[in-house]
Amino acid sequence: MGIFTNRDNKKRYCVFCGKELADGKCTACGREAKEVVSLSSLNWQKVPMEVADALGEQKKQLFGNPLYTVKEMIINGDLFIADIHFDAVYEEEFDRSDDDEGKSEYSYYVQFSTPELAPCDRDCETSAGQYDRVEELLKNGQHEGKILWGRKKKSNYYYAFAPKNGDITAMLGKRLLENFICYGESTEKRKLAPKGGVGNTTYDKVFDTIWDNTIGKL
Ligand SMILES: [Zn+2]
Repeated sequence: MGIFTNRDNKKRYCVFCGKELADGKCTACGREAKEVVSLSSLNWQKVPMEVADALGEQKKQLFGNPLYTVKEMIINGDLFIADIHFDAVYEEEFDRSDDDEGKSEYSYYVQFSTPELAPCDRDCETSAGQYDRVEELLKNGQHEGKILWGRKKKSNYYYAFAPKNGDITAMLGKRLLENFICYGESTEKRKLAPKGGVGNTTYDKVFDTIWDNTIGKL
Protein backbone atom coordinates (compact mmCIF):
# COMPACT_ATOMS: atom_id res chain seq x y z
CA MET A 1 0.00 0.00 0.00
CA GLY A 2 0.98 3.57 -0.51
CA ILE A 3 3.15 3.04 -3.58
CA PHE A 4 0.62 4.89 -5.64
CA THR A 5 0.32 8.57 -4.87
CA ASN A 6 -1.25 11.40 -6.76
CA ARG A 7 -1.94 15.05 -6.27
CA ASP A 8 -5.49 14.44 -5.14
CA ASN A 9 -4.04 13.18 -1.87
CA LYS A 10 -2.88 16.67 -1.10
CA LYS A 11 -6.44 17.98 -1.07
CA ARG A 12 -7.35 19.67 2.16
CA TYR A 13 -10.90 18.42 2.13
CA CYS A 14 -12.65 15.08 2.38
CA VAL A 15 -12.60 13.02 -0.87
CA PHE A 16 -15.90 11.36 0.18
CA CYS A 17 -18.09 14.37 0.95
CA GLY A 18 -16.00 17.48 0.25
CA LYS A 19 -16.19 18.90 3.77
CA GLU A 20 -13.31 20.20 5.81
CA LEU A 21 -10.72 18.06 7.52
CA ALA A 22 -9.52 18.48 11.08
CA ASP A 23 -6.76 16.35 12.61
CA GLY A 24 -6.82 14.05 9.59
CA LYS A 25 -10.54 13.37 9.89
CA CYS A 26 -13.59 14.71 8.12
CA THR A 27 -15.64 17.03 10.31
CA ALA A 28 -18.87 15.97 8.55
CA CYS A 29 -18.78 12.26 7.67
CA GLY A 30 -16.07 11.25 10.13
CA ARG A 31 -13.98 9.32 7.60
CA GLU A 32 -10.25 9.37 8.12
CA ALA A 33 -8.37 11.18 5.34
CA LYS A 34 -6.36 8.23 4.00
CA GLU A 35 -4.24 8.20 0.88
CA VAL A 36 -5.97 7.22 -2.36
CA VAL A 37 -4.61 3.80 -3.37
CA SER A 38 -4.54 1.82 -6.60
CA LEU A 39 -6.64 -1.29 -7.09
CA SER A 40 -3.45 -3.35 -6.87
CA SER A 41 -3.34 -2.70 -3.12
CA LEU A 42 -6.44 -4.82 -2.53
CA ASN A 43 -5.88 -8.25 -1.03
CA TRP A 44 -6.46 -10.26 -4.24
CA GLN A 45 -7.06 -14.01 -3.95
CA LYS A 46 -7.17 -16.42 -6.86
CA VAL A 47 -10.66 -17.65 -7.74
CA PRO A 48 -10.54 -21.42 -7.17
CA MET A 49 -10.82 -23.93 -10.03
CA GLU A 50 -14.13 -25.28 -8.64
CA VAL A 51 -15.83 -22.15 -9.89
CA ALA A 52 -14.74 -22.99 -13.46
CA ASP A 53 -16.01 -26.55 -13.00
CA ALA A 54 -19.34 -25.27 -11.71
CA LEU A 55 -19.82 -23.25 -14.89
CA GLY A 56 -20.11 -26.57 -16.68
CA GLU A 57 -19.86 -27.25 -20.38
CA GLN A 58 -19.93 -24.15 -22.49
CA LYS A 59 -22.40 -23.69 -25.27
CA LYS A 60 -21.00 -23.77 -28.79
CA GLN A 61 -20.50 -20.07 -29.28
CA LEU A 62 -16.88 -19.99 -28.09
CA PHE A 63 -15.89 -16.51 -29.09
CA GLY A 64 -17.97 -13.73 -27.66
CA ASN A 65 -19.22 -16.17 -25.04
CA PRO A 66 -18.77 -14.41 -21.66
CA LEU A 67 -18.84 -17.61 -19.64
CA TYR A 68 -16.20 -19.17 -21.82
CA THR A 69 -14.00 -16.11 -21.30
CA VAL A 70 -14.39 -16.30 -17.52
CA LYS A 71 -13.68 -20.02 -17.49
CA GLU A 72 -10.53 -19.41 -19.49
CA MET A 73 -9.43 -16.75 -16.99
CA ILE A 74 -9.97 -19.08 -14.02
CA ILE A 75 -8.14 -21.98 -15.65
CA ASN A 76 -5.20 -19.72 -16.55
CA GLY A 77 -5.07 -18.37 -12.97
CA ASP A 78 -6.06 -14.92 -14.18
CA LEU A 79 -9.22 -14.31 -12.16
CA PHE A 80 -8.98 -12.80 -8.68
CA ILE A 81 -11.37 -11.67 -5.99
CA ALA A 82 -10.97 -9.22 -3.08
CA ASP A 83 -13.01 -7.60 -0.31
CA ILE A 84 -14.01 -3.97 -0.65
CA HIS A 85 -15.91 -1.34 1.32
CA PHE A 86 -18.62 0.40 -0.72
CA ASP A 87 -18.58 4.19 -0.43
CA ALA A 88 -21.14 5.39 -2.96
CA VAL A 89 -22.93 4.84 -6.24
CA TYR A 90 -23.51 7.39 -9.00
CA GLU A 91 -24.92 7.50 -12.48
CA GLU A 92 -23.74 9.38 -15.53
CA GLU A 93 -26.03 10.55 -18.26
CA PHE A 94 -24.94 10.44 -21.88
CA ASP A 95 -26.60 11.04 -25.21
CA ARG A 96 -26.86 8.23 -27.66
CA SER A 97 -25.87 9.89 -30.89
CA ASP A 98 -27.40 7.15 -33.05
CA ASP A 99 -30.79 7.77 -31.51
CA ASP A 100 -32.99 10.22 -33.41
CA GLU A 101 -35.10 11.04 -30.42
CA GLY A 102 -32.00 12.09 -28.48
CA LYS A 103 -32.91 9.89 -25.58
CA SER A 104 -30.52 9.86 -22.67
CA GLU A 105 -28.90 6.74 -21.42
CA TYR A 106 -27.18 6.16 -18.11
CA SER A 107 -23.98 4.51 -17.03
CA TYR A 108 -23.84 3.29 -13.46
CA TYR A 109 -20.76 3.38 -11.25
CA VAL A 110 -19.77 2.14 -7.82
CA GLN A 111 -17.15 3.79 -5.68
CA PHE A 112 -15.28 1.91 -2.99
CA SER A 113 -12.35 1.67 -0.59
CA THR A 114 -10.13 -1.09 0.75
CA PRO A 115 -11.53 -2.85 3.86
CA GLU A 116 -9.07 -0.64 5.81
CA LEU A 117 -11.00 2.34 4.37
CA ALA A 118 -8.35 3.72 2.03
CA PRO A 119 -10.20 5.11 -1.03
CA CYS A 120 -9.46 3.28 -4.31
CA ASP A 121 -8.38 5.35 -7.29
CA ARG A 122 -10.81 3.83 -9.84
CA ASP A 123 -14.61 3.72 -9.94
CA CYS A 124 -16.12 0.68 -11.69
CA GLU A 125 -19.02 0.63 -14.09
CA THR A 126 -21.76 -1.76 -13.07
CA SER A 127 -25.17 -2.99 -14.16
CA ALA A 128 -28.35 -1.13 -13.21
CA GLY A 129 -29.27 -4.10 -11.00
CA GLN A 130 -26.04 -4.00 -9.01
CA TYR A 131 -26.31 -0.22 -8.75
CA ASP A 132 -29.72 -0.62 -7.08
CA ARG A 133 -28.49 -3.34 -4.74
CA VAL A 134 -25.44 -1.41 -3.60
CA GLU A 135 -27.52 1.74 -3.13
CA GLU A 136 -29.94 -0.26 -0.97
CA LEU A 137 -27.07 -1.68 1.12
CA LEU A 138 -25.62 1.77 1.67
CA LYS A 139 -29.00 3.08 2.79
CA ASN A 140 -29.01 0.34 5.41
CA GLY A 141 -25.52 1.29 6.54
CA GLN A 142 -23.93 -1.80 5.00
CA HIS A 143 -20.69 -1.48 3.07
CA GLU A 144 -19.34 -4.97 2.50
CA GLY A 145 -18.68 -5.92 -1.08
CA LYS A 146 -16.43 -7.91 -3.39
CA ILE A 147 -14.56 -7.08 -6.53
CA LEU A 148 -13.41 -9.34 -9.35
CA TRP A 149 -10.30 -8.71 -11.40
CA GLY A 150 -9.67 -10.70 -14.54
CA ARG A 151 -6.86 -10.51 -17.05
CA LYS A 152 -7.23 -11.48 -20.65
CA LYS A 153 -4.46 -10.75 -23.11
CA LYS A 154 -3.72 -7.07 -22.50
CA SER A 155 -7.10 -6.20 -21.00
CA ASN A 156 -7.99 -5.92 -17.34
CA TYR A 157 -11.56 -6.43 -16.19
CA TYR A 158 -12.95 -5.19 -12.87
CA TYR A 159 -16.41 -5.69 -11.47
CA ALA A 160 -17.52 -4.64 -7.98
CA PHE A 161 -20.61 -6.34 -6.61
CA ALA A 162 -22.68 -7.04 -3.53
CA PRO A 163 -22.60 -10.81 -2.91
CA LYS A 164 -25.84 -12.54 -2.06
CA ASN A 165 -24.14 -15.67 -0.82
CA GLY A 166 -21.00 -16.38 1.22
CA ASP A 167 -20.05 -19.47 -0.76
CA ILE A 168 -17.74 -18.49 -3.62
CA THR A 169 -19.23 -20.87 -6.20
CA ALA A 170 -22.77 -19.71 -5.44
CA MET A 171 -21.61 -16.11 -5.26
CA LEU A 172 -20.13 -16.19 -8.75
CA GLY A 173 -23.26 -17.11 -10.63
CA LYS A 174 -23.55 -17.15 -14.41
CA ARG A 175 -25.42 -13.87 -14.59
CA LEU A 176 -22.84 -12.08 -12.46
CA LEU A 177 -19.96 -13.41 -14.54
CA GLU A 178 -21.68 -12.32 -17.74
CA ASN A 179 -22.02 -8.82 -16.29
CA PHE A 180 -18.37 -8.95 -15.23
CA ILE A 181 -17.31 -9.35 -18.87
CA CYS A 182 -19.95 -6.96 -20.17
CA TYR A 183 -19.12 -4.04 -17.84
CA GLY A 184 -15.67 -5.02 -16.58
CA GLU A 185 -13.58 -3.02 -19.01
CA SER A 186 -15.01 0.33 -17.96
CA THR A 187 -13.42 2.04 -15.01
CA GLU A 188 -13.07 5.74 -14.36
CA LYS A 189 -10.62 7.76 -12.33
CA ARG A 190 -12.18 8.17 -8.89
CA LYS A 191 -14.69 10.97 -8.85
CA LEU A 192 -13.90 13.18 -5.88
CA ALA A 193 -16.51 15.14 -3.98
CA PRO A 194 -16.41 18.86 -4.86
CA LYS A 195 -14.84 21.11 -2.24
CA GLY A 196 -17.51 22.06 0.27
CA GLY A 197 -19.69 19.13 -0.71
CA VAL A 198 -22.36 18.47 -3.31
CA GLY A 199 -24.46 21.55 -3.90
CA ASN A 200 -21.60 23.85 -3.09
CA THR A 201 -20.03 24.41 -6.50
CA THR A 202 -20.27 27.78 -8.21
CA TYR A 203 -22.72 26.27 -10.67
CA ASP A 204 -24.97 25.02 -7.87
CA LYS A 205 -24.86 28.35 -6.07
CA VAL A 206 -25.83 30.26 -9.22
CA PHE A 207 -28.60 27.75 -9.88
CA ASP A 208 -29.89 28.02 -6.30
CA THR A 209 -29.96 31.82 -6.52
CA ILE A 210 -31.90 31.72 -9.78
CA TRP A 211 -34.27 29.16 -8.29
CA ASP A 212 -34.84 31.20 -5.11
CA ASN A 213 -35.48 34.38 -7.07
CA THR A 214 -37.81 32.89 -9.63
CA ILE A 215 -39.53 29.55 -9.20
CA GLY A 216 -39.01 29.57 -5.45
CA LYS A 217 -41.07 32.77 -5.22
CA LEU A 218 -44.09 31.44 -7.07
ZN1 LIG B 1 -16.37 13.53 4.65
